Amino acid sequence: MDIRSGYFKKRLHVDLTEGTSRRLPISEEFIRRYIGGRGFGAKLLWDHLVKHDFRIDPLGPDNLLVIAPGPLTGTYCPSSGKTSFVALSPQTGIYGDSSIGGTLGIELRQTGIDALSILGRAPQLSVLFLDEEQTQILPMPELAGKSCLEAEGMIKERLGTHEIKVAVIGPAGENLVRFASVNADWSRNAGRTGMGAILGSKNLKAIAVRGSKDLPVADIRGLMDEAEKAFAYMRNHKYFKMWQREGLMMVMEYASAAGILPTYNFKDGTFPRVGHINGDTMLGGYKIGDSACFACAMACGNICLVKQGRYVGTVTEGPEYETCAMLGSNHGVDNYAAVLRSASLCDELGMDTISAGSLIGAVIEGYEKGILSLEDLDGQPITWGDEERIHELLRKIARREGIGNTLADGSLAVIRRWPEMEQVLIQVKGLEQSAYDSRAASSMALAYATSDIGAHHTRAWTIAKEVEQGKNWTDEDRADLVIYHQSLRPLFDMLGVCRLPWIELGLNERHYAAFYSRVTGYQVTLDQLLEKSRAVYDLTRLINTRLGMTRKDDALPYKVHANPIRTGATAGKVIDRAAFEKLLDLYYQKRGWDHNGVPPANLAAAFSGSPED
Ligand code: SF4
Repeated sequence: MDIRSGYFKKRLHVDLTEGTSRRLPISEEFIRRYIGGRGFGAKLLWDHLVKHDFRIDPLGPDNLLVIAPGPLTGTYCPSSGKTSFVALSPQTGIYGDSSIGGTLGIELRQTGIDALSILGRAPQLSVLFLDEEQTQILPMPELAGKSCLEAEGMIKERLGTHEIKVAVIGPAGENLVRFASVNADWSRNAGRTGMGAILGSKNLKAIAVRGSKDLPVADIRGLMDEAEKAFAYMRNHKYFKMWQREGLMMVMEYASAAGILPTYNFKDGTFPRVGHINGDTMLGGYKIGDSACFACAMACGNICLVKQGRYVGTVTEGPEYETCAMLGSNHGVDNYAAVLRSASLCDELGMDTISAGSLIGAVIEGYEKGILSLEDLDGQPITWGDEERIHELLRKIARREGIGNTLADGSLAVIRRWPEMEQVLIQVKGLEQSAYDSRAASSMALAYATSDIGAHHTRAWTIAKEVEQGKNWTDEDRADLVIYHQSLRPLFDMLGVCRLPWIELGLNERHYAAFYSRVTGYQVTLDQLLEKSRAVYDLTRLINTRLGMTRKDDALPYKVHANPIRTGATAGKVIDRAAFEKLLDLYYQKRGWDHNGVPPANLAAAFSGSPED
């Protein structure tokens, strides 16, 4: 059966060095196999790396950045505002991607393309502007050093319209901080794996987009019927209203009680003062509004304002759970206003809150343990809960000042400079770990270790299930669950939708096969979509192994094996190294990869073929 609709079958390719752009066709075969979003990005990156014999500097002009929404982005499908950024990561040196919500991807699609790829480097700080007819590289050196929000305002002023969407970097991206984010819609971020540094390395302060084309849908009536069923299910869910009220902030209490909340740089899994930085505190004194991505009834964004005290006037969206945990309990900070200030600094400067929070937590512990000296800290001591120093360190990272210059290069650079810091850094493959302590559940440890971008929970988040139900689980159960999640969760990024309606409200994943079939006119089952997603996981593994990654890189942070969790419901938990290696063997076996985690040699041939053929 043909793909009748759902795509424009076009990619816009921009070469900033040459100052050229071309609209290239994309074939039905490419669409059918890679679906969109991260699938398109992985295949385009693979082709590009093969062409360059896998010798590309992530921060050099030859790195290819792909920005791709999915076929469901901007449709009537619930929570359909997602877009993927894909490139070789400057943070890890391997495959990287990050998805952003809001409305950017919809506007991008409305210019009549399914993906944007960017190569080269502009001669000076510029903004890439595109609409349905033209693509322009506009020099705007006056944006240098501007915060994300300031820059967005100046770009709209220069282009004489507010009817555009802007993806922008802050000073951190310009200064090539390896975990710099790309921000859009004020405070939606592509935070992970350093996509902001890639824009910075290309001398691109921003991408501004204006589009008005109708999005192609094969069966609008059928899509609306399917979507109505999903919206009705969500509206009637017992947690729906709570979600609208608190969003991901409700996870703070849960994680602390379950003993998986990062506390004092993952020494503890429970924060005794969690009540000071939880959803109730936010609702009681800070929340002033809701925000949502495109077509999202859950509206999980919380707009917060500090109304009094030292941080008065700070206004930010969120922080959501990851940010609140990594910049709150992980630093021993129990002042919600200070956490909001840390979050808004990361938004202004354009930095990933998980990586920044994790690195600062490790610095505090490193100093406490005597691994770092006062001189290493530029003569300024730091301790748990030291809000002022934490804020200063965030600024120093973005500006690459003093110790901030090393921290700006991420965990791998910190270990190179101070090898003993490995004992306190919580990272896999150079990506600082998300805010769930994997010592509580070995399936989560496996998920972090085998994630294609490093320790990020969005590839497979199995921790709650194992903590709650996993008493009699076998390694078979763990490996199967991780592999299933690693197919299903990245599928959302391929389709261009948010996974939270599935995770938090239990929206059945089979709805997504129905949405895809209605949009494209191409009848697929969920199992068929999962197979395609699994193939993309093989592809990203192939990219990583070609870049030199092997089993030794599927390694957990030092602490996860060496230091049991100290307090709370998971006190004493640690991951036994030998048992973990056995689990890893089983996982590789189920994946069809060899003992070193390398996919079969003939697999590469399956990914040949040009996207245009
Ligand atoms: Fe965006 Fe939250 Fe809705 Fe997901 S649930 S689409 S992150 S507003």
